[in-house]
Amino acid sequence: MAKLRYERPVIKKLNTNFTNKYGTKTEYSPVTHIEGVAVKDLISKYGSPLFVISETHIRNTYKNALRAFRTRYPKVQFAWSYKTNYINAVCNVFHQEGSWGEVVSGFEYRKALNNGVPPDKIIFNGPDKTDEDLIAAITNGSRIHIDHLDELYRIIELTDELKMRPKVAIRVNMNTGIYPMWDRFGFNYENGQAWEAIIKILASDRMDLVGLHCHIGTFMLSSNAYAVAASKLADLALGIKIKFNKNIQYLDMGGGFASTNTLHGSFLPGKDTSPTFDEYAEAISTAILQSGFPPNELPLLILETGRALIDEAGYLLGSVISNKRLSDGRRATIMDFGVNILFTAFWYSHKISPAQEFSHYTEDSVIYGPLCMNIDVIRESCTLPPMKRGDHVVVHTVGAYNMTQWMQFIAMRPSVVMIDTKGEVHQIRDKETLEYLEQKEMMPQYLKKFTL
Ligand SMILES: *Cc1c(COP(=O)(O)O)cnc(C)c1O
Repeated sequence: MAKLRYERPVIKKLNTNFTNKYGTKTEYSPVTHIEGVAVKDLISKYGSPLFVISETHIRNTYKNALRAFRTRYPKVQFAWSYKTNYINAVCNVFHQEGSWGEVVSGFEYRKALNNGVPPDKIIFNGPDKTDEDLIAAITNGSRIHIDHLDELYRIIELTDELKMRPKVAIRVNMNTGIYPMWDRFGFNYENGQAWEAIIKILASDRMDLVGLHCHIGTFMLSSNAYAVAASKLADLALGIKIKFNKNIQYLDMGGGFASTNTLHGSFLPGKDTSPTFDEYAEAISTAILQSGFPPNELPLLILETGRALIDEAGYLLGSVISNKRLSDGRRATIMDFGVNILFTAFWYSHKISPAQEFSHYTEDSVIYGPLCMNIDVIRESCTLPPMKRGDHVVVHTVGAYNMTQWMQFIAMRPSVVMIDTKGEVHQIRDKETLEYLEQKEMMPQYLKKFTL
């Protein structure tokens, strides 16, 4: 029998609501493998910390989302939101599944083109499209979703120069009963701005108004908000049909579906509170189907779902650096990954599982990252067994936004691997090095020398 790990006895204040005097039960069981690959092998080969993405999980989630919509509405198209995770290997899994690309900046646009997405299957969103971006999008025939009037006027000018008819949509913001309203993007529905933009586009006769777009928020826990938004977009489309006898090809409902993460302060886990794809699909498709389109003129339904498609497929592996007691007696565990690579720790209580067997004793702990910054807190409170320096953990549901919002602050970005559907591991991004970091720096001649 293996020797049991020594656990130093501690005297601990008991709270009356604790389940029993031996402490609380850990929420989790050990997670020693991901898709059949041992966590310790992954870390010894690629280092710690390490992001791991499950291709199988992405494909299954995508298929489930597509099924939820296709069974309820005849014409559905997903467009992968690049900013949610733009590692090219991840994007290409979505493109292989049939997703178009949805981008919000010039470099994302070029990434999608370089990945081989046909230009007319790229949706260009966002408030900041430079002249260079607009010219490329117009010449390539990509779909430009106009955010504000200045952009509309600039496109009109450019069409004169380029002698081309761009494919455009407008982004519409509206009251869906969810506050604060995201009214800084696009044209407002209630105050008539959206209709004004539509009239200006049609009157200019310089571009084809092919769609109407909205993106009402992110991590939306109400599927009903989407029903309201879909009805309002449908209302605009039907208004265009009645007044101008033009058919709008598509309604793009944006992203924003909640993933299964647990928001800070939520009593129930995210798995219990987030609507399913079926619930979102039911709300959206019912609203469009009931809005009054003749069945043969139903618009294509586009979805730019980001986080709900990728969050669960991502894991962050890490290692324990140290344990300490805080002045109030609480246990603190310092990990080798911080908020610099786990940005979402500010919003979510990420589930953390030890990656090795553990005893039944557990204790409420604060989980810190390695940064020399007070804000570097991964979990304020997490029930975990004692772990020693070098032990590993698995952080769950980290696939969305962390691999795009990460920063090399104090520590550099780690490697990312993808486990394919056969269980083979592929490295899809290398960990950063000092050489990589300094590539873009320049040293003026007079600063090259000093004496101390
Ligand atoms: C960020 C974004 C998305 C994706 O949002 P999720 O909340 O990740 O689903 C989709 N469309 C637009 C316009 C966005 O800005």
